[in-house]
Amino acid sequence: MTVDSAGSENMLYTQLLIAQIVSLDPLSPFNALAKRSLPDEITVYDSTLRDGEQMPGVRFSCEQKVAIARRLDEVGVHQIEAGFPAVSETEMESVRAVAGLGLDADILCLARTKEEDIDLAIKCDVDMVLLFVATSEMHMRYKLKAGREQVLERAVRTTEYGRDHGLKVSMSTEDSTRSDLEFMLELYNSCEDAGVDRIGVTDTLGCASPEAVSHLVREIRRGTSTAISAHLHNDFGLAVANSVAALSNGAEAIATTVGGLGERAGNVSLEQLVMVLKNLYGKDIGISTEGLTGLGELVFQSAGIKMPINQPWIGANAFSHESGIHVAAVLNCPMTYECVSPEAVGNRRHLVLGKHSGTAIVLNRLGERGVTVSQEEICKIVREIKRIGEKQGRVSDTEFWAIVDGVLGKPEREDPCRE
Ligand code: MN
Repeated sequence: MTVDSAGSENMLYTQLLIAQIVSLDPLSPFNALAKRSLPDEITVYDSTLRDGEQMPGVRFSCEQKVAIARRLDEVGVHQIEAGFPAVSETEMESVRAVAGLGLDADILCLARTKEEDIDLAIKCDVDMVLLFVATSEMHMRYKLKAGREQVLERAVRTTEYGRDHGLKVSMSTEDSTRSDLEFMLELYNSCEDAGVDRIGVTDTLGCASPEAVSHLVREIRRGTSTAISAHLHNDFGLAVANSVAALSNGAEAIATTVGGLGERAGNVSLEQLVMVLKNLYGKDIGISTEGLTGLGELVFQSAGIKMPINQPWIGANAFSHESGIHVAAVLNCPMTYECVSPEAVGNRRHLVLGKHSGTAIVLNRLGERGVTVSQEEICKIVREIKRIGEKQGRVSDTEFWAIVDGVLGKPEREDPCRE
């Protein structure tokens, strides 16, 4: 770096610091430093109904798949991977039911590089079939028990088969991040000659860094001329970061799942990706954020899984505050501890009573019911909330009003705390 460019970089940094001091931007102004070249059009192909359902122990009924697909379509997801028809007759029927809904979203399904799998996709009347074939030595040797020539031949043959039957075809190399780049390029190029519509890069084991994903996607972009999708797992907690890396280096479609459900540690979470692109990179991809919490609740409920309370954006704690310092600030100006409002994602703010509570929340609650107290009384109420909070964690509304009654000496107060 030359002295001059270092100087101008410092200048930019200083300007940003000043901007931060004087601005009341709820998000970090330093995000301006992280501008990346994202594609104009970004496609989300949501795999909640396929990879999400492959989460051990999870299965969706046909009715549940239909309900989830409708909700995904409502929030504006561009493509829905409805399932893997080869799994079972019922699964095939579910995919067909979703494809028959007439949604705005394109309906996709997964298939191995086998003609019979593609026949099922045709029977389901999907818009695009997502073919996948393993290309890593590990998978070819211990799973497929096939060599490179065989894998290549199957990929080309089934791409042609799908195209000949009027389907759009996507071809993914499974376990791309542990595969030989030259071999993958050979496979992609051969499938391009066979008319493939999209090629897919996968981090099946979630074992690649953002830099590795950047490099891989950049090289595949350089060596091919078809739209690239990325299917990335979250084993190191980097799925969302890796999807941004993929998008900044030539990918234009990302597989997501609601809540990041999926095999092992799951996939790129739909809501996190949408929020990251919109808020940190200024890229609105046309998916409504207001419907995200409702969608998340529907999916977790259908999956029979309790949503983690600290799930980003859609969890019950995503906008909860207990600490007295935080609550006092939030009551004054929510942006002090919330960079996005809960309404923006269809969630709610919760001010929680517990051992960390201070006077602000107590005054706020009492004020809502028009109850006035002396300084001495409020101290007693806060002390009692802290004592119970130390013992049991959260202090409920009913307990709060019982404490108030105890301190104010009004045991006969009638039901003031129903919400
Ligand atoms: Mn997967």
